[in-house]
Amino acid sequence: MHHFEFEVPGVEHFSFTPGQFISVIEPVDGKEITRAYSIASPRSGNRFSLCLNHVPDGIVSTYLFELKPGDEVDIHEPLGYFTLRHPGRRAVFIATGTGIAPFRSMLLDHLPRTEPRVTLLFGVRYEDGLLYRTEFEKLDAQYPTFRFMPTITRPTPLWTGLTGRVQTHIDEALSLPTPDEINNVDVYVCGLKEMVDDVRKELKRRGFDRKQIIYEKYD
Ligand SMILES: Cc1cc2nc3c(=O)[nH]c(=O)nc-3n(C[C@H](O)[C@H](O)[C@H](O)COP(=O)(O)OP(=O)(O)OC[C@H]3O[C@@H](n4cnc5c(N)ncnc54)[C@H](O)[C@@H]3O)c2cc1C
Repeated sequence: MHHFEFEVPGVEHFSFTPGQFISVIEPVDGKEITRAYSIASPRSGNRFSLCLNHVPDGIVSTYLFELKPGDEVDIHEPLGYFTLRHPGRRAVFIATGTGIAPFRSMLLDHLPRTEPRVTLLFGVRYEDGLLYRTEFEKLDAQYPTFRFMPTITRPTPLWTGLTGRVQTHIDEALSLPTPDEINNVDVYVCGLKEMVDDVRKELKRRGFDRKQIIYEKYD
């Protein structure tokens, strides 16, 4: 998982809603191949960043990982509805891997302005895969309304935090004082299909309404 920065030439502001994705266009044999990538940064001038995973033998991710600083890529404008729906309501964000990207954008954009009440449950395989860890830890210390819960599936003996898959920490992330509090929480889920489907199943079992579960699947 790597962090990439881009600049959009010729505009002062690159406009998008945090949580949206752009599409990268790769020209291959006279055809255009496109893939979606969630913006990982807050709104800031004409720059944006992506958080990318190199899929072995993947067409567009390999193309992106072969880019050198200064290279240009074509993109389609930002799209998508995986955005903070009700900034006033408590939210739980659940991500694995590069599924963290849209949440980083939402958090860095919204926390300094409206301080939404958010718990971020972020799962990766290895501790050094916890991209943006220091940044989220700082936000956790800075904003009483934000809680960061990283979990590792293959921890080293030095890791003292949560272990196992995000699915096993849903109740702790929800931390509902009473079951009726369910109606006051929205859960946002982002990552690969298998995790997203598992989490949705777990939430429905706990009585969550479909409207309260907002998700983005990467595959
Ligand atoms: C809305 C949206 C947002 C996305 N945001 C991001 C993002 O922020 N960062 C990011 O790295 N990717 C993101 N993706 C995934 C991305 O669009 C591509 O699917 C991914 O880069 C693989 O494309 P490729 O051309 O390299 O691989 P392809 O040549 O299309 O081959 C992909 C094959 O690998 C499998 N696969 C294994 N791991 C993955 C994986 N992690 N993602 C997708 N397919 C996988 C697929 O099932 C498929 O069979 C997003 C997808 C969607 C739909």
